[in-house]
Amino acid sequence: TATASRPDTGARTPLPLDVEAIRADFPILSRTVRDGKRLVYLDSGATSQKPRQVLDAERWFYENVNAAPHRGAHQLAEEATGAYEEARAKIGAFIGAPENEIVFTRNTTEAINLVAYAMSNAATAKEPEFRTYAVGQGDEIVVTEMEHHADLVPWQQLCERTGATLRWLGLTDDGRLDLSDLATVVNERTKLVAVTQQSNILGTINPLGEIIARAHEVGALVLVDGAQSVPHQPVDVTELGADFLVFSGHKMLGPTGVGVLWGRYEVLDKLPPFLTGGSMIEVVRMEGSTFMPPPQRFEAGVPMTAQVIGLAAAVDYLQALGMDKVEAHEKALTAYALDKLAEIPGVTVIGPPDTVARGGAISFTVEGVHPHDVGQVLDDHGIAVRVGHHCAWPVVRRYGVPATSRATFYVHTGYDDIDALADGIRAAQKFFG
Ligand code: PLP
Repeated sequence: TATASRPDTGARTPLPLDVEAIRADFPILSRTVRDGKRLVYLDSGATSQKPRQVLDAERWFYENVNAAPHRGAHQLAEEATGAYEEARAKIGAFIGAPENEIVFTRNTTEAINLVAYAMSNAATAKEPEFRTYAVGQGDEIVVTEMEHHADLVPWQQLCERTGATLRWLGLTDDGRLDLSDLATVVNERTKLVAVTQQSNILGTINPLGEIIARAHEVGALVLVDGAQSVPHQPVDVTELGADFLVFSGHKMLGPTGVGVLWGRYEVLDKLPPFLTGGSMIEVVRMEGSTFMPPPQRFEAGVPMTAQVIGLAAAVDYLQALGMDKVEAHEKALTAYALDKLAEIPGVTVIGPPDTVARGGAISFTVEGVHPHDVGQVLDDHGIAVRVGHHCAWPVVRRYGVPATSRATFYVHTGYDDIDALADGIRAAQKFFG
């Protein structure tokens, strides 16, 4: 049975993080919803709540420093530049990267679009070195059937713009990547492989080592979607061995409006820009312009400075907790939640049934109750989950369900939240049963 294959589950083992102390840092967790009910926030996978330290950092910037970095000769501009670049170095260090490999974008979606557009812009670039990673007819881009739309649609569009072909790795019945045809799907024609480190819908943590090794064997680049991994486990780009890693600030306790593209410097250096304008140019003449080296080449316009500073505060917060502990905390919660859900007749988890290679994103269906109705009853109980196709439509289609309900955990999640979820599901069954 599923339980027998989960030796690390069962008991309410003491949680690695002090949930009560952490909750006190999150102002929103002290509000109530639906007529005075405690907010049970199980939707961090969509966006995370923000601790006071992050809110304070943004306010500090606007109240004390506010100016456009890299512009202006005055003290505020100098301080804004210092704070912005210090934040870049801190966020880089969080994933083991030097600061010149960190590009700020609006979110994961924009970071992926940046790479996809740079690769199609490469075909018509004036500068020969910018044509290094050009994609055209006869080339192939590889994704997986597990990708979030953000890591699928930009590649479909790149293929439409360039005449390249999109290929993908499929899924097994238990929610993992099917790597049986890795050697043929990733081949000499492959220019780039885009794969998520952790599925936002299935929770699966993918065996990236094998995929990256194969991609590099055939000379392809690898982009890792870290939107659901970087917030929840230690990630070091040197150990990872990919060429790009992308993630969103708002899913890791940081503000909305800031995301990160990490790229290996030698690769970034050979990519033409995506967006153009101020701040990214070297020399501008009416006849044409030249561009700054990375990361400035990819940061056109006045950046989201306050958000970057807020994200650096989120990194401080996570590092003070310790990413090893964050990961262990969520593993314990996941094991407990899988057990709790297994006890409820009619509940099916869509995704790996054990905690061996999965994180804390648990999608489930409840027999005889539509996921939207499950969500509605849970909401009536003050429990926030996500329902729908979770921006991964091919995944729900693959498993033959119209939609799922999804609970996701984070540093403030405790066993009481999961007990509330299980009680809420039972209430939904009673109401619609
Ligand atoms: N990739 C994954 C795995 C995600 O879960 C998400 C967001 O849910 C994204 C990409 C897109 O992130 P954003 O909407 O912040 O760009």
